[in-house]
Amino acid sequence: MREQERIIAANGISYLVFANLEQAKVLHGFSLRHGGASGPPYDSLNMGLHVGDEEAKVLENRRRFAQVLGYRAEQVVTGRQVHGISIARVTGRDAGRGHAAFAEALPDTDGLLTTSADVVLMAHAADCTLLFFYDPHIPCIGLAHAGWRGALAGMGPAMVRAMCEAGCRPERILVALAPSIGPCCLRVGEEVAAAVPAALRPQVVRRADDGLYLDLPEFHALRLVAAGIRRDNLVKSSYCTKCRQDLFYSYRGAAGRTGRMAGIITLKWQA
Ligand SMILES: [Zn+2]
Repeated sequence: MREQERIIAANGISYLVFANLEQAKVLHGFSLRHGGASGPPYDSLNMGLHVGDEEAKVLENRRRFAQVLGYRAEQVVTGRQVHGISIARVTGRDAGRGHAAFAEALPDTDGLLTTSADVVLMAHAADCTLLFFYDPHIPCIGLAHAGWRGALAGMGPAMVRAMCEAGCRPERILVALAPSIGPCCLRVGEEVAAAVPAALRPQVVRRADDGLYLDLPEFHALRLVAAGIRRDNLVKSSYCTKCRQDLFYSYRGAAGRTGRMAGIITLKWQA
């Protein structure tokens, strides 16, 4: 099978890129945890301003990430994520919101969408899934944060609808799902499993001796395909954040106190 994702190392930090977005030459990346300025339990490339880390260290980490990927950190726009499905369509006027101060991030926003090349979309996760979207014909990009709550609420289909309102067509949209907690590690309660649509439950819920496990990435994928995304336009990371805490932050793995990875995507063209 063709390689779906790869890790790039540069100037002491590393990030992950996805084959479909890379081939389409849209600038994007998902940060790994090493090579940053933060100390334990945020060691070390913590990209989240909202988790109790020192602000100056997070800003230094964000500066390093921007420098390596080749975008301007001042153009970042990010949201205050609440495990909802609200999507904000942003323009160049929003550039910088949440870049240096969490209070300035867009409130109650788990999804960002733009057709402007003057902003860099950023979202954060440590076990939840970041979903990257790109329709090259408009062009239009989207970036969403969704764990099991957002998946149940339908974040993936909500972003497809929002992009269609911006002129996109589902069959053209490329999607990449960043590393999140895998089917090996995401134990859920009976009430969560029961909330998964019955038709999908056999494919994404597994009963083990110690409880129920949800395949969160595949749940996102199936809901996206049902919303019109072509399966061959969809890349799903093979990493589990909880199994690979050497590479990633895991909220569950660290019992809540840890850093955040960042995903970014921007319409600035790659060289
Ligand atoms: Zn795992």
